[in-house]
Amino acid sequence: MRSPVPPLPESGDRRPEAWFLGPKAENAEAFEDFVLAALRDHAEFRRRYHTDDPIHVTDAIRAHADFQAELAHVRAHLQWLLDFLKRSVPFFSLRHQGHMTWETTMPALVGYFAGMLHNPNNTAFEGSPATSVLERWVGDDLCEMLGYSFATDTRDAPHVNPWGHLTSGGSVANLEALWVLRDVKFQAAAVRAALLAHDELAPARAVTVTVSASGVRPLLDLDPWSLLNLPLDVVLALPGRIEREFGISAEQVTARAETHSVRQIGFAAACTRYLGASHAPLFITSGAAQHSLDKAMSILGLGADALHHLETDVHGRLSLDRLRETLERCIEQKRPVFGVVLNMGSTELSAIDPIVATHALREKMRARGLDFGIHADAAWGGYFASMLRDDYSMRRDGQREVEGSSAPTRDPQAPLIVPLSAHASREIGALHLADTVTADPHKSGYIPYAAGALCYRNEALRFFTCFTGRYAFHGDVVRNIGIFGVEGSKPGATAAAVYLSHAVIRPSRSGYGTIIGETMFSCKKFYARLLCLAELDDVFRIVPVPPLPVSLPGATEAERIEYVRRHVLGHDNSQMLRDPEACRLLTTLGPDLNILSYAVNFRRDDGTWNTNPDAANRLNLALYERLSLDLAGERPAPPLILSSTDLETEKYGAPFVNEYCARLLGTGARADRITVLRSVVMDPWVTETDQGSFLDVVMGELRRAILAELKATAGAR
Ligand SMILES: *Cc1c(COP(=O)(O)O)cnc(C)c1O
Repeated sequence: MRSPVPPLPESGDRRPEAWFLGPKAENAEAFEDFVLAALRDHAEFRRRYHTDDPIHVTDAIRAHADFQAELAHVRAHLQWLLDFLKRSVPFFSLRHQGHMTWETTMPALVGYFAGMLHNPNNTAFEGSPATSVLERWVGDDLCEMLGYSFATDTRDAPHVNPWGHLTSGGSVANLEALWVLRDVKFQAAAVRAALLAHDELAPARAVTVTVSASGVRPLLDLDPWSLLNLPLDVVLALPGRIEREFGISAEQVTARAETHSVRQIGFAAACTRYLGASHAPLFITSGAAQHSLDKAMSILGLGADALHHLETDVHGRLSLDRLRETLERCIEQKRPVFGVVLNMGSTELSAIDPIVATHALREKMRARGLDFGIHADAAWGGYFASMLRDDYSMRRDGQREVEGSSAPTRDPQAPLIVPLSAHASREIGALHLADTVTADPHKSGYIPYAAGALCYRNEALRFFTCFTGRYAFHGDVVRNIGIFGVEGSKPGATAAAVYLSHAVIRPSRSGYGTIIGETMFSCKKFYARLLCLAELDDVFRIVPVPPLPVSLPGATEAERIEYVRRHVLGHDNSQMLRDPEACRLLTTLGPDLNILSYAVNFRRDDGTWNTNPDAANRLNLALYERLSLDLAGERPAPPLILSSTDLETEKYGAPFVNEYCARLLGTGARADRITVLRSVVMDPWVTETDQGSFLDVVMGELRRAILAELKATAGAR
C-alpha cells in the first residue's frame, strides 16, 4: 500500500541552500511548486474519493455575482491580513541575530501545509491514521538522534526500548517529564500497598527487588525510604516480573496499583502514606533553568520551594560541587529527590550542564541509598546531537528501510563547519544517559511552531501520562501515540512537518549536522568579531560572556585578543579552515552552543573606564532598544535585531556573575544584575553571501549604534 521511500542523493555534498526559502526568497519558485503540488494532490484526492458522489459548488453557483463578491471579500481580507502580518519579526533576515528562531525549512513548511489540508488530529489514531504513524516514526527518529537505541531483536531482553513523541513545545515536554518523574517516585510504594490490600494479588507478596544499597530484598520488607529510592527501571519492570513469576497479569497489578497511586490519591495523600519519616521530595536544577520548570512545579502542586536552583560555575553550567553537596544533604536529611534537571543548552547562554558527571554521581549516590531521575532539558541543545551522528535511515514501523547508503563526500566548496568543543560534544553525546529528554523541533530543528518533543529512555514510563483505560497497555498502544501526554487534540500537520524535514534533511551529520555546524562557525566568527570590534574607536569595548579560552601564559588580554584576530579574522573562511591552529582555536572559542551573550562598556568623559554596573546596564538596555523591533510598528525597521536578558546573582549565584562583572567592569566590580545583549546565531550562511561576510554589516551597525548612543549621552558620564 505504501510507495517506496526515495533514497538520499547518490553523491556529492548536501546543500543546505536547497532546504530554505532564502533570505531574499531565492527559492520562491521551487517553494511555489511544492505548495502547488500539495494542493493539487489534495484536490485530486477529494475528487477520487467515491468518484461518483455529487458536487455541491456547481459552475452556476460559482458564476453568480454574489459568489464572486464573496471571493473578492476573502481576497480583500486576505490582503489586509498579509499587510498586517508584515509587522512580524523578520526572522529570515541576515540582520536578525536575536531570538531562538530563524526561518524554517521548506520541507517542514510544505509538510505542514500538506498535512494541514487533511486536518488530522493526533490525539487518537482514529482521527489521524496517517499522521499518527508519522509521529511514531519521528518519535523513533528523535530517540535515535539523541543516542537512545532500540533492541534489534526481541530476544535482546531485557533491553529497555526508548519512546518519543511530539508535544506543543518545550514547556509542555518539561511539564510531562516532571509529571512522570513525580508519579514514578511513589509507584513502588503503590504496588506494595496494592499487594497488601488485594487478596487476588496475595501470591505476589513474595516478590523481591534489587535494592542498589543492600541487594535482593522482598518488596514488602522495604521501608519507605528504600521504596522511594528504587531505580526507575526496577520500578517499571515490577508488573511484568510479577506476571512472569507469579502468573498474575501485569495489567491486573497495574490496575490495582493505580488505586494507590499519586494520580488517584493525589500528592498530599501520597506524602502522608508513603514518605514515612522523610521530607517531601525535591527537584534540583541550576539557576540557568528555563522558567517552564517553575510553571511545571506549580501545576504539579509541588511548589517553587521544591525546585532547588543551584549555583552555576563561571561558564553558566550547573556546579557539580553544589550538586554533590545538595545530594549529600538530601541523604542526611532523608529528603528524596524526584530528579535532577540538566540544562543542555541554556536559554540565555546555551551553556551545557555536565550530564556525564551527574550520571556518574547518581551511581555513587545509588550505592548509598539515594536514587533520582535525570531529565535533560535539551529543548535547545537536542538537535546538536545531529552533529555527532553518522547518517542513518529512519525507522518506519520499527523497521529500517534502506534509503541509499552513500556517505556524502566533502568538496572544497563544502559548508563551513566547526566541530563542537570537547565539553559540548562529550555532554551532547551523552544525552542518552538521561531518563527523559526534551528536544524541540521548533527550536534548533528549524520546524514551524508548535513542535516540541519529549523522548523517554524507558518506554514504560509513558504510561503515567495515559488516561484512556487499560486497553491501552495492549492492543493499539503502538499506533495510538496520541493517548500519551498532556495534550488532547493536537495537529497531525506538525508530525507531517517534522517527518518531511527529517526525511529530506536527516538529523545526522550530513543533514541537520551541516546546518547546525555552519551556525557554530558563524557564532564563533561573531564572537571573534565582537572581541575585536572596539579597538577601532577605543571608547568602548564589548565583553562576551563566554571567557576567552586562549591560554598564552603571561599574555595580556589585548595580546590574547590579538591572537584571536590573527588566527580567526586574518584570513578568509576557507584559508582559515586550512590553518590547524585556527581550527583548534575555533572549537574552543565562544559559547557551548550558538547562543552568545555580550555587553558593552565605555570610557567615561575623563577617559577612564566605567566601573559602575548601573551605568553599563543603562547603556546596554538603550542599545537593545535601538536594535530591536518596535512592536507597535511605528519606528522604521531597526538596522539589526538583537535580544537582551539580565544575568542575575539571585539565579546564577555570585561566582558566575562576579567573574563576568570583573571582566566587564574591572577587578572587584560587583553587581546583582548585568544586562546583556544576546544573539542566537541560527543563520548558517551569515558569513558567506554573494557580497562577502554579512558580519561586516552586522558589526558595522552594532558599532554605529554604540557610538550613536555614547554620543547621545556624552557629558552625562
Ligand atoms: C525554549 C525553551 C523551553 C520552552 O520551550 P517552549 O517550546 O517555548 O515551550 C524550555 N527549555 C529551554 C532550554 C528552552 O530553550
